[in-house]
Amino acid sequence: MGMPGRPGDHRWSQQHLSHYVEGELRPFTRRRLERHARNCVDCARGIRAMRALVHALQGLDGLAGTRAPTTIFDRARLAGAGGPSASSPA
Ligand SMILES: [Zn+2]
Repeated sequence: MGMPGRPGDHRWSQQHLSHYVEGELRPFTRRRLERHARNCVDCARGIRAMRALVHALQGLDGLAGTRAPTTIFDRARLAGAGGPSASSPA
């Protein structure tokens, strides 16, 4: 039944955890990450940790009533701007 433990998949998933949690991945990409996380304790834990972090940041933002500080997510978003959509293989 395939090889769920491909190292490349794990690396890829780790790099997309934040995007996954922020809901920025396309359905196909989400499914790929979810499928991997089902077989990978590390990535499953990473998703939970990332969710908690995003939740905490949103909570802080709401409490402070100010704009959230620049986070790794913002930087990742800026770095990826024009990337995913421009370089998607047709
Ligand atoms: Zn993994």
